[in-house]
Amino acid sequence: PAYISIENVGKAYGSRHGAVKALSGIDLQVREGEFLSILGPSGCGKSTLLKCIGGLENITTGSLKIRGQPLSGPPAKAGMVFQRDVLLDWRTILDNVLITAEFLGLRREDLKPRAMQLLKRFGLSGFENRHPWELSGGMRQRASICRALLCDPELLLMDEPFGALDAMTRDDLNLELARIWQDTRKTVVFVTHGISEAIFLSDRVVMMDRNPGRIAEVLEIDLPRPRS
Ligand code: ADP
Ligand code: ADP
Repeated sequence: PAYISIENVGKAYGSRHGAVKALSGIDLQVREGEFLSILGPSGCGKSTLLKCIGGLENITTGSLKIRGQPLSGPPAKAGMVFQRDVLLDWRTILDNVLITAEFLGLRREDLKPRAMQLLKRFGLSGFENRHPWELSGGMRQRASICRALLCDPELLLMDEPFGALDAMTRDDLNLELARIWQDTRKTVVFVTHGISEAIFLSDRVVMMDRNPGRIAEVLEIDLPRPRS
């Protein structure tokens, strides 16, 4: 059985000028532990599809289930990373990573060792007590990933997480992400418009079209992965 089951999903945004049809007839089964990328031109509905999976937007038609359960609100076991980091400037990097614990009502102290370990894994040792504005864009996205991973989510949703970074930093982070995925085998849904990035990282690549946003093709990728 599929981990995420999406059947005939449509999504329209309302506006003063009428509805914008962002998604139409989306059918997709996401397997447990797979790395799935969603690729397509700007405006084809990639972010919308990811937000629907993350429970941040409601679907208009069709059905969306995680482990057979219809989604109502953000799934507790999902970590999310967006293009623009959402770190709080007045908090230290460590405290930003620990925010997830607060959201879930867990004790900060219990999760601090794991936060420190994740920061180390992502090359941020020594920056725990710095503030976001003291770090580069790449470092901030590393911290955002640590935050998303803090409570060991079974699902990681990423919306062009490295889209705003320079090409070399992006390559580094993609390699790091591939290694993390090898270690943990979390289910990942990754939105990008970089085709080489999608092929490098993924088990499957979903290609979307616009007007209306729909799936054009699903590619199975079978390439050797980097090892940790
Ligand atoms: P992509 O991520 O592929 O660039 P989006 O999912 O952001 O595509 O957008 C798909 C379509 O839905 C676009 O036409 C976009 O303008 C529209 N859209 C996205 N978000 C909203 C919103 N909050 N309100 C109205 N229209 C939106
Ligand atoms: P993306 O990188 O996904 O293409 P955009 O720059 O198109 O992002 O959109 C940024 C944000 O604005 C997103 O959260 C999206 O949902 C929202 N948005 C996009 N199009 C519209 C729209 N037509 N009306 C309202 N909000 C929109």
